[in-house]
Amino acid sequence: MTARLISFIIPSFNEAGNIELIYKALDREFEDLNYDYEILFINDGSTDDTLFRIKKLVFSSSKVKYISFTRNFGKEVALLAGFQHVKGEAVIVMDADLQHPCSLIKPFIEGFEEGYHQVIAQRNRKGDGWLRSCFSSLYYCLVNKFVDVDIRNGVGDFRLLSRKAVDSLLTLNEGSRFSKGLFSWIGLSQKIINYDNVARKNGKTKWAFSKLLNYGIDGAISFNNSPLRMCFYTGSLILLLSLIYIFVHLFLIMNNGIVAHGYFTTISAVLLLGGIQLLSLGVIGEYIGRIYYETKKRPHYLIQETNIKSGESDENKQ
Ligand code: UDP
Ligand code: MG
Repeated sequence: MTARLISFIIPSFNEAGNIELIYKALDREFEDLNYDYEILFINDGSTDDTLFRIKKLVFSSSKVKYISFTRNFGKEVALLAGFQHVKGEAVIVMDADLQHPCSLIKPFIEGFEEGYHQVIAQRNRKGDGWLRSCFSSLYYCLVNKFVDVDIRNGVGDFRLLSRKAVDSLLTLNEGSRFSKGLFSWIGLSQKIINYDNVARKNGKTKWAFSKLLNYGIDGAISFNNSPLRMCFYTGSLILLLSLIYIFVHLFLIMNNGIVAHGYFTTISAVLLLGGIQLLSLGVIGEYIGRIYYETKKRPHYLIQETNIKSGESDENKQ
C-alpha cells in the first residue's frame, strides 16, 4: 500500500536564501511520519537566484515540484496556482521564509487524522512592532464588524487543508483574491493551533506599508457591500442633519433677519461634505474597479516553466 500524500505549497518571491533550508526542514519532519510528501514551490517572478535554487533541488529530489510565473503575480495568485496543481490528500500552505515553524506539521497531520478539514495555525504577535500590532488589532476588529466572514487576528495562510477544502476553494474563481477570507468562507470543520511568532530567517518582508494597506482594503471589500452601505447611511445622516440645520436657520432668519456671519459654518460644511463625498466615491470606485477586472476574465497567472507534466494534476487550468 502506498503512503498517503501530503502536498506543500510554498509561494516564493526572492527567497533564494531560504529554499534549501525549508526543503531540508520539511524533509526532516517526514523521517518519522507515515506519509509521503511533495513540495510545490511557486516562483512568483523572483529576480534573484530563487528559481535556480529550486531547480537544483529538483535534480536531487523527485518530491520537489515547481511552477515559475512569467512575472510577479502576488502571493494570493501563487497560492491559487498551488491549489490547482497539487495532488495530496491534504495540503499545507507555508511561507518560504521559515516563519512558519515545521514543528507544527505533526499537530497539523494529527488534526487531519482527527477528521478536521482545516487545521489552522494562529500566531501571537510577539516581536511585531507595537504600531503594527495596534493597527492589526484595530483592523481585525473593524473588518469583523463589517464583513460576512470571520477573520481572526494572527491567523494567516499557514494551515492544513483537506482535499475537500481544497476542492471547495477551487470553486471560487474570483480574480482579486483575499485568501484569509476565502478560507473562512468555505467553512468546514476547523481546529486552531497556537504558536509563537518567529522572525524571518533570510531576506526581507515583501509587505511594505502601502502593500499592507491595499491588502487591508481587499479584505474589507472582497466579501460584501457593507462599505457601500456605510456610505449610504453616512450620506443619509448628513443629509438629515443638513436639513435640520437649514430649517433652524431659516426660522432664525425669518425672526431676526439676515446676519452676515457664517464663514466658519460654510467652510466646515463644504469641507465635511466634500470629504465624505470623495470617500464615498472612492469606496464605489473600489467596487467598480473590481467589476472592471473581473469582466476582463484574464487568466489569473501565466506560467513560464514547470516540471509538472500536463495532466499530472487534476486541474491544469490557469
Ligand atoms: N510572496 C510571494 N509573492 C509576493 C510576495 C510574497 O510569493 O509578491 C511570498 C514570500 O516569498 C513568502 C510569503 O509569500 O514565502 C510571505 O511573504 P513575506 O514573508 O514577505 O510576508 P510576511 O511574512 O512579512 O507577512
Ligand atoms: Mg514572512
